[in-house]
Amino acid sequence: MTDEARCEGCGALLQTEDPGKPGYVPEAALERENPVCRRCFRIRHYNEVARVEQDPDTYLRLLQRIGQTDSLVVWVCDLFDFAGSWIPGIQRYLAQSDLVLVANKIDLFPKSVKRNRLREWVRRSAERRGLRPADVVLCSAAKGLHIDEVIATIDRRRQGRDVYVVGTTNVGKSTLINRILREEEADGGEITTSPYPGTTLDVIRIPLEDGRALIDTPGIVRRDRLSEWVSPADLRVIVPRREIHPRVYQLNDSQTLFFGGLVRFDFVSGPRQPFVCYVSNDLYIHRTKRERADEVYSRHRGELLSPPSEFEGLPEMERQTFRLSEGEKKDLVIPGLGWIVAGKKAAEIHMWAPRGIPVEVRPAII
Ligand code: GDP
Repeated sequence: MTDEARCEGCGALLQTEDPGKPGYVPEAALERENPVCRRCFRIRHYNEVARVEQDPDTYLRLLQRIGQTDSLVVWVCDLFDFAGSWIPGIQRYLAQSDLVLVANKIDLFPKSVKRNRLREWVRRSAERRGLRPADVVLCSAAKGLHIDEVIATIDRRRQGRDVYVVGTTNVGKSTLINRILREEEADGGEITTSPYPGTTLDVIRIPLEDGRALIDTPGIVRRDRLSEWVSPADLRVIVPRREIHPRVYQLNDSQTLFFGGLVRFDFVSGPRQPFVCYVSNDLYIHRTKRERADEVYSRHRGELLSPPSEFEGLPEMERQTFRLSEGEKKDLVIPGLGWIVAGKKAAEIHMWAPRGIPVEVRPAII
């Protein structure tokens, strides 16, 4: 391919290496006259939006520009990975914007969890980090739950303005937009891509009936989520797709839990107590004695302790220490994987996760 080949649709430089990046085109499609990138191809032929990623600096410039427009901003986040779906810098650039927060993947939560409680939790979490959304809507794009509420909220809030949709990768933004498109399909109209002024980002414009547009922006990647470090096959194991069945472990001190070979949880000291794990039902949890943990890990990682099925590129595990007091129910959150509820009684805990993946403590969500 010559260096100059560009997509007819969005103008991105064509490349055949990385399907997640702008301008990706499968080798075979290059034979065509006037090739377009896969994303534009899908938009043209299937009216379907696919996700691409962007580098952080370019993305921040885009946020800044959006913040300067008079528009409605819809921020899509993953309810199951709220910390991991926070867009770095969003509070700096969009704090003054009219903002609707759509928290996706509600289907993963046990039915017993009250929606109102979750909604308030999301609102408080956003406010603590410096954003005050006008509305918080919980939905499931994949299951089609509460999509009508998302659409109604956007319609009510936008008051004749454009709508920008932002989010990190993997939160389900494309799934949601495709869902909205399908619901609104009757209105027709042609979806187009266009480069966003002053950036190399291309955005997708979906016309609304009053001449305004719903503008989908590329997702930004957060490297500090475990989900960004594993292979696509492993991703299918760790990203939950069905309602989570919490797994409860009654542990004595000096016991260890391995979450595949990705994360290690040591209950170092404290009275016997339960720890409740909210992770994908498909992720294997292995219990062992703490004194044996190093040996078990070096002997079984990648096999019994899997995912990851391959370790190349995955940073070494690093330890973080947590001390919880009795009755202080807390979630120990591993971005991109899930969380463990602890603190029924006093406990000292060591969490081991790949370097660069910060384990967070928050008041228990459930
Ligand atoms: P994007 O990167 O934000 O555009 O995310 P995608 O739309 O590609 O979705 C990322 C992953 O989340 C995919 O595996 C989807 O199937 C999954 N997903 C999207 N919406 C939902 C949802 O409502 N519930 C669940 N459980 N998974 C979802």
